[in-house]
Amino acid sequence: MYEKTNPNGSTATSSGLALLRDPALNRGTGFSEAERDKYNLRGFLPPHIHTQEEQAERVLERLRLLTDPLEKYVALNALHDRNESLFFRVLCENIDEMQPLVYTPTVGLACQRFGHIFQRPRGLFIGANDRGRIAQLLRNWPYRAGIIVVTDGERILGLGDLGANGMGIPVGKLSLYTACAGVHPQLCLPVMLDVGCNNAAMLEDPFYVGLRQRRLVGAAYDELMEEFITAATEVFPGVMVQFEDFANHNAFRLLKKYRDRICTFNDDIQGTAAVALAGIFSALRINGGKLTEQKLLFLGAGEAATGIADLVVTAMMADGLTESAARQRCWAVDSRGLVVKSRTDLTEHKLPYAHDHAPVGDFLGAIKALQPTAIVGVAAVGGTFTQAVLEEMARINKQPIVFALSNPTSKAECTAEEAYRWTKGRALFACGSPFDPVKFEGNTFVPRQGNNSYIFPGVGLGAMVSRSRRISDEMFMVAAQTLAQLVTQADLGQGSLYPALPRIREVSAHIATAVAECAYKSGLAGKPKPDDVAADVRSQMFDPNY
Ligand code: NAD
Repeated sequence: MYEKTNPNGSTATSSGLALLRDPALNRGTGFSEAERDKYNLRGFLPPHIHTQEEQAERVLERLRLLTDPLEKYVALNALHDRNESLFFRVLCENIDEMQPLVYTPTVGLACQRFGHIFQRPRGLFIGANDRGRIAQLLRNWPYRAGIIVVTDGERILGLGDLGANGMGIPVGKLSLYTACAGVHPQLCLPVMLDVGCNNAAMLEDPFYVGLRQRRLVGAAYDELMEEFITAATEVFPGVMVQFEDFANHNAFRLLKKYRDRICTFNDDIQGTAAVALAGIFSALRINGGKLTEQKLLFLGAGEAATGIADLVVTAMMADGLTESAARQRCWAVDSRGLVVKSRTDLTEHKLPYAHDHAPVGDFLGAIKALQPTAIVGVAAVGGTFTQAVLEEMARINKQPIVFALSNPTSKAECTAEEAYRWTKGRALFACGSPFDPVKFEGNTFVPRQGNNSYIFPGVGLGAMVSRSRRISDEMFMVAAQTLAQLVTQADLGQGSLYPALPRIREVSAHIATAVAECAYKSGLAGKPKPDDVAADVRSQMFDPNY
């Protein structure tokens, strides 16, 4: 029997055809002559042995013949279902090319078409009709989960309510946990909490995979969530739960409810905040500005905007500002105009950023009135950083900070090309979706994605390795600082505010170490501090190569 030791110390065994059909154990045509004898594989495999490296080349050759990103996504998913190590090797060694396929922007399309491209289930689907038996469902999972990424599918990227089709998001995020931070695949559990869907197009689609009912609300929703959280922490003691793509009426209150009770965070609020703050730190290294002198204007006042603003305020306070002075430096425009005190339509999370000011109806008007040093687009409305907006930012600032963070690409506030052209090459630019380098007046700018994938894999790994009981705000602050420190002068020289993506495992290992240090220092860790925290982190990173 073929044996493989799992991260929890247990051993998986298999042989014959079953071994080839087990994605966790399968090595495809890579099994050696001796292994073919030992595990009863004779006859099932063609005679030539291909190394894993050769198999990876074969995968890439096939993949690159496909022109449609969704077809590539489907092919990668099939590989994931067939040979896990090979899938992660291909991802790790080609992360620049693969991340946009397994995550944004392609995952948006994959979620919209989820029922149509469905082949094999991955993770757990827990539905409104599973009340009373959620623990039993979780026990069906054959491994000890260390990280759960859960969504209810109500706000998938900037695409709205996709219901159970939103499962593509936890699956994609957990693939990045393994590819970017080496979290062992068996520790990763994607969960779709199917509470229904209010999107008529989904409910009418014959291939829609979810419950055909409207969303649970109120007590029924909260009770299902409570049962899930209780069961998850009982079945998998110490598990970290990452909330992903919840609509903001649930996201903020669920974070508030659970953050002091279990090891949890909301990536759309807190992960986004850390990646954006790191980008601001990098931009200030280029333009020589001080954090406490920045004025940020957000387009959008939801999870991402509030999360970023809160962390910026914390960072400004660390640099000496009072909380109210720091908050005065963060402003937001939502769908009804500038968020100001006199408005009566503001939800709770916007109130800390509702300042004394006359109403302003539009974003350009707000820029003219407030003269921000930075604009951050997180409204999921494409094309809103218009030529007039960018020209005005360039008129007010020598080197304006321009972050167009909305996803997927169709929702980006502007393209990289527009950002550089309309500011005459002076924008300090980061984007939510990938853009190619831009040539402008003899310079080549290399825009990098202000994508949470720089942050959450390292934070999750650090929390898991230190067995942290909670995820604190301080952990996101140190994650942002660590990420910013890893940006080189060469990166900055070409306008890149983040490290190159192929360095992501090194980046995640540094962030995980900083987060784990934070857990030990603050008494949150569930184990004694090892002598060498960095070595402890690295020793637990999964290596897909064999
Ligand atoms: P959200 O639903 O919580 O917030 C959206 C906000 O935009 C709301 O405040 C809404 O009032 C506002 N809005 C809507 N239409 C508007 C308009 N026409 N003008 C001004 N404001 C408008 O969503 P979120 O979680 O904050 O995410 C927003 C976007 O940011 C999404 O596209 C998401 O994919 C993206 N995002 C990117 C990253 C990243 O890593 N780059 C991380 C998180 C979120």
